[in-house]
Amino acid sequence: MINKRIKIDYDKEKIAITTICSHSSLQIFHGARQEGFRTIGICTKEQERLYSSFPLASPDRLIVVERFADLLQENIQEELLRENAIIIPHGSFVEYVGATEILSSFSVPLFGNKAVLPWESDRAKQREWMLSAEIAVPKAYSDIAAVDGPVIAKLSGAKGGRGLVSARNGQELANKLDAKMLDQYTIQEYIFGSRYYPHYFYSQIRSRLEILGIDRRDETDIDELYRYRDFIDHPPSYVVVGNQPLVVRESLLGKIMKYGEGLVETSRRLFSPGLFGPFCLEMVCTADMKFVAFEVSARIVAGTNLYPLGSPYSPYYFTEAMSTGRRIAREIREAASQNRLDEIIS
Ligand code: AMP
Repeated sequence: MINKRIKIDYDKEKIAITTICSHSSLQIFHGARQEGFRTIGICTKEQERLYSSFPLASPDRLIVVERFADLLQENIQEELLRENAIIIPHGSFVEYVGATEILSSFSVPLFGNKAVLPWESDRAKQREWMLSAEIAVPKAYSDIAAVDGPVIAKLSGAKGGRGLVSARNGQELANKLDAKMLDQYTIQEYIFGSRYYPHYFYSQIRSRLEILGIDRRDETDIDELYRYRDFIDHPPSYVVVGNQPLVVRESLLGKIMKYGEGLVETSRRLFSPGLFGPFCLEMVCTADMKFVAFEVSARIVAGTNLYPLGSPYSPYYFTEAMSTGRRIAREIREAASQNRLDEIIS
């Protein structure tokens, strides 16, 4: 998987940390600058002004494209290779450029292991991965007739919480779902509890797993449903529009760490050399204090934007204010200085 050409051609002094201007890019540019790197942002014409307007987080160079998928064009890839770019993939990068295209037609070095993409972008494979890591997951139903309690149905590939339907039972679900689209839904048990989304970072260079922060997504309009008591028939939506900071009761931290370790360990067997860099587990902590996870994000998540100057956990690892964006840049810097860049890019 690792592209050997990268090892040979890489000029570590001139690395440009590069990403698409969206999602967590300001944090990534800010962190890269703190670690002394040059930065490149890929943006559209309409974004140019916004992304030039942050004195401490605007990239050193903006490459303007018509649409993000243009990154796949040969001339843009060649330009990025000339610039010694390392791409930091985030949610919008994978969404706009496409997992299949990244695997088949993108040769600019990427921070992290590309081999995780097929595992991350398929809900069934994610589940297999979590189960092999001994992570508790919601019960899954293969069809509506089997539903025996509260459920949530998700459209495959839906991102940002769009297209979710919750129901008290199978009958209610059958009434709510579009019969023509039934085969496109994943149906799972609705887990009641508090949501915790820990931000992990596995360092190949230091061989250690860190918890750099925790957030909870702010989802409209389910998170303010109490305000709509007068409109009791209003079906809630789960669209992600922001994030809230969180710390977890300290006695629960060990369970969160164990889940993260499980994901890293099993990934080595499933897609060598495995999962490294930033990743996140979306989970619910139930009333009996068990964590049930329903999604893995194998890259930087937008919830890390809460902590550009470090989180309530990052001071336990670093004396400097350490965001996840800066942590990525630190890993690249340490890898470059030890001649180990080929271990952290693909
Ligand atoms: P997802 O599309 O899997 O990221 O889910 C989006 C949102 O739906 C989550 O952030 C949760 O608020 C909610 N959700 C997803 N799965 C479950 C579940 N099994 N039980 C309860 N809530 C869920």
